[in-house]
Amino acid sequence: METAQQVCRVAYLNLRDAQRVMSLEDEQALRREAMAWLTVRTNDGRDAISREDLTQFRFRGERLTLIDQGRGIRKPAACRAALSIMTVHTPPGRERPYNDMRGPDGLPRYKMRADSRSGADNRAVLQALELHLPVIWLVGVAPGWFQVVFPVFVIGAEPELDQFVLAYDAAQSLPLLGSPMEEVLRHYVTRETRQRVHQPVFRSMVMLAYQTQCAVCSLRHSQLLDAAHIIPDSDEGGIAAVRNGLALCKIHHAAYDAGILGISPDYHVAIRDDVLAEVDGPLFEHGIKGLHGQPLMVTPRRRADRPDPELLQQRYADFLSA
Ligand SMILES: [Zn+2]
Repeated sequence: METAQQVCRVAYLNLRDAQRVMSLEDEQALRREAMAWLTVRTNDGRDAISREDLTQFRFRGERLTLIDQGRGIRKPAACRAALSIMTVHTPPGRERPYNDMRGPDGLPRYKMRADSRSGADNRAVLQALELHLPVIWLVGVAPGWFQVVFPVFVIGAEPELDQFVLAYDAAQSLPLLGSPMEEVLRHYVTRETRQRVHQPVFRSMVMLAYQTQCAVCSLRHSQLLDAAHIIPDSDEGGIAAVRNGLALCKIHHAAYDAGILGISPDYHVAIRDDVLAEVDGPLFEHGIKGLHGQPLMVTPRRRADRPDPELLQQRYADFLSA
């Protein structure tokens, strides 16, 4: 197995022969512009973007797709380093917790390609590491849809594990291991990872499945909607899958988390007894009390995306015993 440095040296030798390679300044400008464009297109990284939209970016008048057709790593011909890396969407029922993507230091990992055409692609990612060029990480949330995480830095390679080490911040490339602050930093990094990748990806997947509507009341306004976990992701059973999620409007999310509103394993809404006895204004009467015994108004079309009755049962038991 070649070491990262050996692979990079080979890449540099290959580069010497390459024609029309952009200057480093141009590659930096390309990345800045692509990320600014994505910021607008994705509502500051919160919304998913389609494969089609990712092909529409233009750099200096020329269309330059941000996603490779068919390969995980996108390196435009004139670039030295990978511009984007992709993680494919995992079909429902085969999801794994996002912890699988993290190393013991809490930082995410990206698997090297292992097929016959992998050499150039893996070298392109190593070039991003060597040249300190940020990359765009496209995380599949549904067929043809991606949550975009940017900028992401490639800060290391673990050839023995066939993977690269990623970070969200150049500061994370500081050596963590062996330092007395390691545990504290690891906790911070893990929390950051959760917020930066898990939450937006989870939100996009849930919003797509529920067509951006509250499961309980069918409210459609995206800014008033949350992707709620049935079993919190901090728990052992908290899985990063749509079947552990519900699209809920802010008020129903808060009511669900406060134990005022429960959802039974057969998809019916229940309101806590003492709350049913309260008298309040119209929102409370219609939006809370009026829902008691009603079925969910919105559930995902795909069976595998629907709320998992076993997870609902666990949460419902807590609601009933409160
Ligand atoms: Zn609602």
